[in-house]
Amino acid sequence: MGERERFRVQTVRPGGNSVLKVHEVIHPVNKQWDERKIRSIVSDVDCDAILSIPVSVEDKDDALIWHHDSRGCYTVNSGYQEAVKQAHLGSTLPSSSTGWSAKEWKFVWNLNLPPKLKHFVWRIYHNALATCQNLLAKRCANTACCPVCLTAAESIEHLLFECEWSKRVWFGSNLGLRCDDLGNLSVRDWFGQCFTSFGISNWGKSVICSMIWVAWTIWKGRNDHLFNHCLVNPEAIIAKAKHDEAEFLATCNVASAPAMAILVCTG
Ligand SMILES: [Zn+2]
Repeated sequence: MGERERFRVQTVRPGGNSVLKVHEVIHPVNKQWDERKIRSIVSDVDCDAILSIPVSVEDKDDALIWHHDSRGCYTVNSGYQEAVKQAHLGSTLPSSSTGWSAKEWKFVWNLNLPPKLKHFVWRIYHNALATCQNLLAKRCANTACCPVCLTAAESIEHLLFECEWSKRVWFGSNLGLRCDDLGNLSVRDWFGQCFTSFGISNWGKSVICSMIWVAWTIWKGRNDHLFNHCLVNPEAIIAKAKHDEAEFLATCNVASAPAMAILVCTG
């Protein structure tokens, strides 16, 4: 289609348009594209792309095709591979960011955390968290504006480090982190540096797990604000992160080690 890599019509669907299926823009007698009808619905770029597709000579019904599989069938594996590819394509990470090696990923997968939190780290790394900025980039939102402070675009960095309420969460947590000390460090780089700097000891691993619990609970608090109209409350988020982590550790029979550290790794 118009945008070859995504196989999508880029024209925004006009309201009140009655055309719903492909066969409705194919002439019923000569079995060719109805150019006049197509041009009245989509942009010239999309129209030209559609006209370049040969119409099947067989009289087949419309069907959903998964473009990323040679047989046109969706599989979990092909969906996963495409999601990874899209995450890389949509990435707007700072150019100074360094990629994580297999060693760092092994470290993440071995952390004592629920799978959803490890997946959350994966989404942060791949800039695949559904922040308003990312949704706008994918044309799934009307604004990039942070739904909490309404003063800046909601990037992952803004969500976790720059929004005033999340700064209060980090500082009030056991980690005592001052986000302003992180400068322009991206969340992904900060995580990576923490893994390298103090991920070797069990104590360091417990600090990193606490970091991820805090980040996750900020994300959940933001979602509750956006979707359930709950007020963001830094104290409540701090308490929830602590409670949920302790509860998880209790189910694993692991003692909860309070992590007191100033997590500033800039070197
Ligand atoms: Zn904000």
